[in-house]
Amino acid sequence: MVSPSSIRLEACSICQLKCPLCPRTTGETFKIIGNGTLKFENFKSLIDSNPQIRKVELGNFGEVFLNKEIPQILRYAYEHNVETTIDEGANLNDVSDESLEALVRYQTSILRCAIDGVTQSTYEKYRVGANLKKVIANIKKINSFKAAYRSLKPVLIFQFVIFGHNEHETERAKLLASMLKMKLNYKLNFSENFPVQNRDKIRALLGYSDRKEYMEKEGRHYMRNQCYEMWIRPQINWDGKLLGCSRNFWGFYSENVFQNDLIANINNEKISYARDMLMGLKPLYEDIPCKNCGIYKSLAKNNSWITEAELKEHQKHS
Ligand code: SF4
Ligand code: SF4
Repeated sequence: MVSPSSIRLEACSICQLKCPLCPRTTGETFKIIGNGTLKFENFKSLIDSNPQIRKVELGNFGEVFLNKEIPQILRYAYEHNVETTIDEGANLNDVSDESLEALVRYQTSILRCAIDGVTQSTYEKYRVGANLKKVIANIKKINSFKAAYRSLKPVLIFQFVIFGHNEHETERAKLLASMLKMKLNYKLNFSENFPVQNRDKIRALLGYSDRKEYMEKEGRHYMRNQCYEMWIRPQINWDGKLLGCSRNFWGFYSENVFQNDLIANINNEKISYARDMLMGLKPLYEDIPCKNCGIYKSLAKNNSWITEAELKEHQKHS
């Protein structure tokens, strides 16, 4: 039986940007994920009825800060000793001062911000509709609140996905991250539509030039660990649908965990079958969302099924 102390609960699936490869922009998320925000009342009742939950990740397909109830949500979590993270990433373009202060005041432990460029012209090539000046101003405000509250939290992560159009700015990204008191985290590109040019440079930096090369060298998908969420921190949509993992926008395992017993839902027949499938213990079943996922295909192709041992190891470090 699975009874995780950590969950992922999307605060907002709406986003104001139009990043070209995002499944929100392409419209792929609309059917199952929809457009909406997590209601404070649902957050409260889930926390109240599940005292085993000690940690909640609030990001997923949209922009967390477009949810106006974020200050209330962070406060309630803090007052109930539940750690909050926004490690999936935020674009930080439009955030109220109240929300920025709440991040510090209520001790959100991690805030990851997607900044794939240090000049407006580079940054907006992928982050379409975004404004770098606004992002930098918001990060500076968080740092001011951190100073005022003498807080080390949230740890700020500067996420830079390396594309062909921004690879010349990797060095300057280091500088900007340090000026903004952020930890720089480069990530490999995932699309052949934005190929990197200087492969040797990226290899020297990260060991691989893109995710395709990672797969060829390692025989496993770059994002394979996302499957762990099915056991360790299951994904719940803003409206209560149980999605299982944060990659899934193809189907759900339960219609509304806000109205039903969470632990019973996390252990229902369908999601238990999916876990067995991911371990290679059961054959592919059409009704399981993983059948659409490139990660499942790579598990099957490489016979590199998820194991109990790696789940235990991952849990130790999470
Ligand atoms: S900022 Fe994130 S959620 Fe918004 S369009 Fe870009 S990738 Fe999608
Ligand atoms: S294979 Fe399934 S559990 Fe793993 S990332 Fe894909 S949809 Fe999620």
